[in-house]
Formats: sequence, structure tokens, C-alpha cells
Amino acid sequence: MDTIPLELEKVYDLAYKALTKHGCDDLNADCVSTTVTHAERDGSVSHGLFRIPGYVASLKSKKVNAVSRPTNNYLTQNAIRVDGDYGFAPVAIKVGLPELIKTTSKHGVGVLTITNTHHFAALWHETEALAENNLIGIACTAYKPSVAPAGAKKPLFGTNPISFAWPRKNNTPVVYDMATSTMAMGEVQVAARDGHKVPFGTGLNKDGEKTDDPNQIANGGVLLTFGDYKGSAIAMMIELLAAGLVGDLFSFEAKKEDNNDGGPARGGEFIMALSPELIAGKNWNEHANKFFDQMTSLDGVRLPGQRRHKNRIDTGPRNINSGLVDKIQSLL
Ligand code: NDP
Repeated sequence: MDTIPLELEKVYDLAYKALTKHGCDDLNADCVSTTVTHAERDGSVSHGLFRIPGYVASLKSKKVNAVSRPTNNYLTQNAIRVDGDYGFAPVAIKVGLPELIKTTSKHGVGVLTITNTHHFAALWHETEALAENNLIGIACTAYKPSVAPAGAKKPLFGTNPISFAWPRKNNTPVVYDMATSTMAMGEVQVAARDGHKVPFGTGLNKDGEKTDDPNQIANGGVLLTFGDYKGSAIAMMIELLAAGLVGDLFSFEAKKEDNNDGGPARGGEFIMALSPELIAGKNWNEHANKFFDQMTSLDGVRLPGQRRHKNRIDTGPRNINSGLVDKIQSLL
């Protein structure tokens, strides 16, 4: 794979120019470009610049509001709904998260339901932002169907990611962020682009047979959930939280609504925050650290989030797929 070294400021500039060229104002372009740049910084390549052509496609088709102005509405003292004004999710998150932090730090528990947005970024951005404010964060979102429920050969669930972040004082938070499919579709697409196989059983081909060919899964095939019926139950829970509870589209409804422009479909996101200080008490950090010490003392264990946080320390350029850079430059 040919790559080109790009400083993080250049990554941001490239994303920002592509988005503003296609109608985004500063707020909308800045929120998305920041999310994309942080993904490249941390080595979440399937959610970095790789997503820009899709974001641009959804601006060109006018599916996404390039000048969105999300608004917060308090449903109860602990539950806030952000109306995303049909823009990209990072904008609604930027507007909603400070209110969630405020209410959770006061009441111990808070819920942010995000509606009318278009989301295909990683979720650790939002859970980690909560952890940086000494809160536990849980977030999940549904997407268009590409994953078969356990026992089925046809898609009904999205790749439905869920992220959890645990804060640690004077340390990076412990964060996991994972699709409930065997693999995120972005990773499958990147494997197809780069000519790599995926583990056998990641998904089924169009005839319903297990395959290790990412092209066959991405084109007419279907992904499977991780852990068979157990992952399937979690994927179902995410549909219910991010669509049923939030009051936005289930994956199957998002598919019907979407214009298939290659950009993110419309949908909602469920974010919950908890204050360990108010719920567990003053000793929460020391107590949890004892647990993490036990965990990391076992041979072979690393904490989730560690790979990204190590990548983050490197302030140098990132190697970006040259074809992708050319593609984005052709959009400017
Ligand atoms: P991965 O399988 O790469 O990683 C899942 C999690 O496991 C990460 O938190 C990772 O931490 C952790 N992890 C990986 N290896 C180990 C290990 N050996 N020990 C301990 N922890 C480990 O992620 P996915 O491919 O499932 O998902 C990728 C991204 O796709 C996510 O960010 C998700 O939000 C996003 N996504 C977004 C969608 C959307 O619609 N918005 C849809 C689907 C996915 P670390 O990062 O440190 O490696």
C-alpha cells in the first residue's frame, strides 16, 4: 500500500477544506475535521480521512445539513435530548456533552439522547470526553443493516458499536469501543481496499456461506455478530437504546430513509454518564486502580484504549493511503 506522510495539522486542513468546499460552515467543518484528525492521531484509520469522501457525498446530495445548529432540550433533570438539526453527529455531541457533564456531575446519573444526526465516526471520542471529566461514559448507536442476528443469514442489525470509558485520576481513561459485529464495516472495507483477508467467519457471502474475503462480505454478503447469540443480544440492546429509547430510526428504518449516497445514514445515539465520585464515594479511583493492577499483572493483558493512547504520544506525521489523499484532493 502506497502512503504519504501527513502532519496532523495537514490532516485537519484536508478534511476542513473538503467539508467547507461542499457547504459546511466553520462550526460543522471544525467538529467533523477534529473528530477525523483525532482518529488519525490515535490510529483509528477506518474512522479518519477514510470517511471524508462519504461525508462529502452526503453534503453533495443535501442529505446532511452542512450548517446545522443542534439544540439541547431537558426532558427531566437528568435526561437531555439534543436535536441534531440533521447535521453530522460530532456537532450535536459538541453541543450536548457539556450539558450532560454538568447534569451528571450534579445528580450522579445523566442521559443524553441525540436525534436527527448522521453518525459514522468512532464513539470513543464522546465516552473519553466524559472520562476526562471524571465521569463514566457509555455510548452506542445503530446503523443501516449489515449484520445478521444469530441464526439468520440476512442483515437486520447495524454494526452497532458500543463504547465504555472509565476515568482514572492522573492517568488515561480505560476505554473500549467496539462494533458488535465480528468487525466494523469500515475495517472490512479497508481490508478489501488493501487486499487483505479477514478472519474466516467474519461474515457470510451472498450465498450465506462463511468467508474470509472482505469483498464478498461488503458486496452482497453479511457480517456476523461477535460471540454468536451473545453478541446478537448486545446488538439488539443497542437497537433498543439508540433507536427505541432515543426515539430515532432503527437500522431497518434508517435503510429505508437513506439515499445510499455513501455517507452516514440518519439515526440517533444514546449516551449515558455516571459519576463515580457521587455513586461510589471518594475512594473510587484508588479502589478501581487496585483492580487494574490485578488485571495488568497477568501475563498478556493490556487495557483497552492503551494502543490508541500510545499512538497519541507520537506528534509526528501519519502515513495516509496515497489513493485516499488523491481522492480527497480531487474533491477540493
Ligand atoms: P477493535 O476490534 O479494533 O477494538 C475493539 C476494542 O477492543 C478497542 O477498544 C480496543 O482498544 C480493544 N482491544 C483490541 N485488542 C485488544 C487487546 N488485545 N486487549 C485489550 N483490548 C483490546 O474495534 P472494532 O473494529 O470493533 O470497531 C472499530 C471502531 O468502529 C470503533 O471505534 C467503533 O465506534 C467504530 N464504529 C462506528 C460505527 C458507527 O456507525 N458510528 C459502526 C461500527 C463501528 P484499542 O483501541 O486500544 O486497541
